[in-house]
Amino acid sequence: MTQLPPGSTIGIIGGGQLGRMSALAAARLGYRTHIFAPEFDSPAAQVAAGSTVAEYSNLNMLKLFAAKVDVITFEFENVPAESLALLESLKPVRPGAKILAISQDRLLEKQFLNTAGIATAPWAAVETAEDLPAAVARLGLPAVLKTTRLGYDGKGQQMLRTQADLAPAFASLEPKPLVLEGFVNFAAEISVMVARGVDGTIVTFDAAENRHKHHILDLTFAPAPMPLTVLEEAQRIARTIAEKLELVGLLGVEMFVTADGSLLVNEIAPRPHNSGHWTMDACPCSQFEMHIRAIAGLPLPPAIRHSDAVMKNLIGPEDMDLWPRILATPGLIPHHYGKTEARPGRKMAHFNRLFPKGSLPGEFGIEDALKLNGQETV
Ligand code: AMP
Repeated sequence: MTQLPPGSTIGIIGGGQLGRMSALAAARLGYRTHIFAPEFDSPAAQVAAGSTVAEYSNLNMLKLFAAKVDVITFEFENVPAESLALLESLKPVRPGAKILAISQDRLLEKQFLNTAGIATAPWAAVETAEDLPAAVARLGLPAVLKTTRLGYDGKGQQMLRTQADLAPAFASLEPKPLVLEGFVNFAAEISVMVARGVDGTIVTFDAAENRHKHHILDLTFAPAPMPLTVLEEAQRIARTIAEKLELVGLLGVEMFVTADGSLLVNEIAPRPHNSGHWTMDACPCSQFEMHIRAIAGLPLPPAIRHSDAVMKNLIGPEDMDLWPRILATPGLIPHHYGKTEARPGRKMAHFNRLFPKGSLPGEFGIEDALKLNGQETV
């Protein structure tokens, strides 16, 4: 495809904050967006030119949606295969159905990664209750039992510590099949956002470190405070994945860093990613603009980072109680998702704070952010 001309409409499947921030980036490049999501008044639909409210399995509504847009992308990848096949028959879908199928299924994902020569935690497929003891005998305990589909933010997985955990964990995790992963005693978790354009150009943002609270991303530090050799290897892995998948679009790669500095890929997500939100303020071209450029056939600029950054997620009612203080604190760059109801565990907003390059603090919390600690902000 040639470059998508300004005024064209980008269809986005999914109505969450990732779609909202993609739509805002698309608008800056002169595009309209049309959101397809099951919820009314979704964060993305609030800032888009148009929206369709229907289930992802509603083929008639998907057909009508496809007729209104010039190219289709995702902010949510758990779309039924039949829906994807229909969309692909009607309009360019970027990234394509093959990549979505791989990232929707932890087994396919691990097979793809290992075949591409990329290390993961040791794993074994668990289809029946009888498979589990054999898998545990091979991988040892502790181990993590996960659904292969539909897991997020630590949902759909259980830690196995003793033999007594096996049967209840197998019974409670749905849908089957499951996958058992050896427990990785990681030193840190990092992620890399990689984009590949229609012409095959690949750009990778700097690797960032992610810290979680209650299984939900809490803080991202960019760049990840670790040796350059590790960061460069993380970017090389992300490039290889983008190349092998023939990605057109943006993809997040989550990795574990072990004590000896080796990297194991945990998950890939073919869309903008929470751990890439720091790019909105620390890079001339954010992950969202890079995503839109890639799917629109525009040139991809280098993924330059002009500042160090900390991203803080604001989750549920507790964090949103701090919103007035966050707005009143110089140096914090707020991004609100437009959700009215702050339920526990719900991602409501985030903020970025920039630091001159090379001065990223190793420790950081919301209290540090609100006090500013007399540190220079950019
Ligand atoms: P996931 O849903 O696969 O992204 O897992 C959510 C979180 O659980 C990860 O960010 C890790 O903190 C932890 N986790 C997942 N798999 C493993 C593993 N094999 N070993 C150790 N921790 C894990």
